[in-house]
Amino acid sequence: MSIALIDSNNFYAACEQSIDPSIARRPLVILSNNDGCIIARNAEAKCLGISMGEPYFKVRHKLKSLGVEIRSSNYALYADMSQRLMNILKDNCEEIEVYSIDEAFAKITSSYNCNLSSWASQLREIIYQNLGLAISIGIGASKVQSKVANYLAKTTATHAGIFNMENIENKDKWLEKVPIEKVWGIGRNLSHWCQIQGIQNALQLRDMPSNIIRKKMGVTGIRLQQELKGEQSLNLSIESIKKKETCVSKSFSHPVTRIEELRQAIATDVIIASEKLRRQKQYASKLTIFTRTSLYTPFFYSQSATACLVLPSNNSKVLLSTALDLTEKVFKPNYLFMKAGVIMQNLLSQEYLQLNLFSNNNPEELLKQEHLMKRIDYLNKRYGRNTIQWAACGINQNHSNGQKYLSPLKTTQLQEIPIVYT
Ligand SMILES: [Mg+2]
Repeated sequence: MSIALIDSNNFYAACEQSIDPSIARRPLVILSNNDGCIIARNAEAKCLGISMGEPYFKVRHKLKSLGVEIRSSNYALYADMSQRLMNILKDNCEEIEVYSIDEAFAKITSSYNCNLSSWASQLREIIYQNLGLAISIGIGASKVQSKVANYLAKTTATHAGIFNMENIENKDKWLEKVPIEKVWGIGRNLSHWCQIQGIQNALQLRDMPSNIIRKKMGVTGIRLQQELKGEQSLNLSIESIKKKETCVSKSFSHPVTRIEELRQAIATDVIIASEKLRRQKQYASKLTIFTRTSLYTPFFYSQSATACLVLPSNNSKVLLSTALDLTEKVFKPNYLFMKAGVIMQNLLSQEYLQLNLFSNNNPEELLKQEHLMKRIDYLNKRYGRNTIQWAACGINQNHSNGQKYLSPLKTTQLQEIPIVYT
């Protein structure tokens, strides 16, 4: 059995180019929420030396003079494209583990094995034809090997986006080309430690004495080494890893000075966060809200407040009333607030709700509330966001900055689907 890692190249930029042919093959950058800084670039923009994380206001003129295209981040588009990508993978692979928005591991057994490379190039073609996305496929005997192979697929032009480690006679030669910091599971700290030990690439890591690796990284390190050797020690986990925290925050387009306005902004974040919790099938047992003024004002002020919930919940009503009570604690008059948000903490799986001995639990009422939330989520999904709104969020939701370069929702909104004339 082999493992393939399928990964879309420069995913956010590729999604934007896929729905707008006028920017195909042009340098392109994507800005963060509220057009703050650069969070993604395509290959052409990378070649021009534009760095990640650069604040937009600092490089605005440079981008203009270089003729770089700009887009505000359009997460609804990326999520929809990701869903479509994963659906194609499900149809073409035996079993997949969705690893991130644009990445998935796939199990391939003997039925495909007769010609893995032609299976991979066919899959690349199907995805390009259906979604306009270029993908890289790395194939190996284990998950770590497939990750390494994917890195090689991306960096070796002659391999045309596919690298099959299983086919390669001299694996050592290729492993040597993979810098230690590119090995999956080696973060910044570990790669620094490895460098000090004289370990600079994947090959050296594979062959390093295992007692040293065990001492530093424990059993995780041993597994990593085994995987590099091609022995499977990490299973394909079909169940996605549960989140421990969920945060929703926003920068304001204009300073907020009134508590009513701050309450509305926080309420909006709480509603989004509670929808996320319900999607993740989780409850929050703790909730923190925070707000701050601009980092650059001489009277900087930042405050947060936390509450533990008597009963863990993902009910918008419960979370809203908790958060709104906390707002009174963080607000201070005469300050110009520029940012606020909420963090849902100590998340629990919906399956294991522990009722509280000392609170008034009414299972019937809980069930009723759960149905109500499901109904609201369904209507908002079916008829568009904010079909059902919460009054606490305000009528004119004008807290967030404009996303000046937002692309249309051509794949998810009926009104914005392109018209074809025959
Ligand atoms: Mg990617």
